[in-house]
Amino acid sequence: MLDLKLIEKLTNAPGVSGNENAVRTIVRAGIEKHVDDIRVDALGNLIAFKRATGKGKRGTGPKVMLAAHMDEVGLMVTFIDKQGYLKFDKVGGVDNRVLLAKRVLVGKDRTPGVIGVRPIHMIWRKGEHKKVSTNEELVIDIGAATQEEAQKAAAVGDYVVFDTAYEDWGALVKAKAFDDRIGCYLMMELLKGGYPFPLYAAFTTQEEVGLRGARVAAYRTLPDIAFILEGTGAADMPQPKEGDTSRVPALGKGPVVTVMDRSVICDKGLVKLLRDAAKAKRIPLQVKQPGIGGTDAGRIHITREGVRTVVLAIPARYIHSPVGLMAKADIANGLKLMQAALAKVR
Ligand SMILES: [Zn+2]
Repeated sequence: MLDLKLIEKLTNAPGVSGNENAVRTIVRAGIEKHVDDIRVDALGNLIAFKRATGKGKRGTGPKVMLAAHMDEVGLMVTFIDKQGYLKFDKVGGVDNRVLLAKRVLVGKDRTPGVIGVRPIHMIWRKGEHKKVSTNEELVIDIGAATQEEAQKAAAVGDYVVFDTAYEDWGALVKAKAFDDRIGCYLMMELLKGGYPFPLYAAFTTQEEVGLRGARVAAYRTLPDIAFILEGTGAADMPQPKEGDTSRVPALGKGPVVTVMDRSVICDKGLVKLLRDAAKAKRIPLQVKQPGIGGTDAGRIHITREGVRTVVLAIPARYIHSPVGLMAKADIANGLKLMQAALAKVR
């Protein structure tokens, strides 16, 4: 059974890169009684440790690391102009097209704002509406009448998060930040189990700005094997050129294993372990379109003398936008598959 309440809490929490506090608090409260040790390092990574279970097994077996990142893409205030509008920059990979006409929350006080767009009636420059506005051309409007008024509600350096809430759509769930709160959720569930090997679970920071937290988390734990749990982009929507692009992965067709992306070529043995476990348990498994994207695996597998690494992800439509969609069946199958795979780790 999926803990949908926890998925709701995790996805609704604000956690733009470098500001993962709210997520870390939820994670800590949820795992405390299932682990032997919790540490938070200088970059804000939360690293939980679970001793090997079973007689005489203490400290034996490969050191296994699970990793999922707590941060999400978002924005940051860079300037407050004379009229009280907020200029902003992007934190992580945000497509300019998703910025228009969005509700946002600014800073610690969660001041509501909108990213305004000039109405179609007032487009005086020929073709202005045909090109995508960059974030430099857009502003956040918090309803302030003056610069001073705006400065009372927001400051340069404030984080800005999309204001959107989790919804249950029956077979699907809708939320922001499935990338990678869904990985955090899977790890929280997996930590309830017992394993015959020492297990580290790293809830990492700053993945979306260059896999930064994972780098130090892996250095500290130095695992033999690492499983990176992710949310990955689904491609099963209408494509610009019919037939030109792969529609894999698709929602509802199972979790997704990475063979190769821009950051890592996954360990063949671990890919096989996942494939064999899926087959044995009759769990559908999709292979991620090679060459696309990158994850914490990119840093973890080249830590010190190297770490055998694999990535398992749950597909989400429209990731890195405020309106991701994910299939409950894929989340449940991802969890089942990880449980089966970890049972086979030697
Ligand atoms: Zn991610």
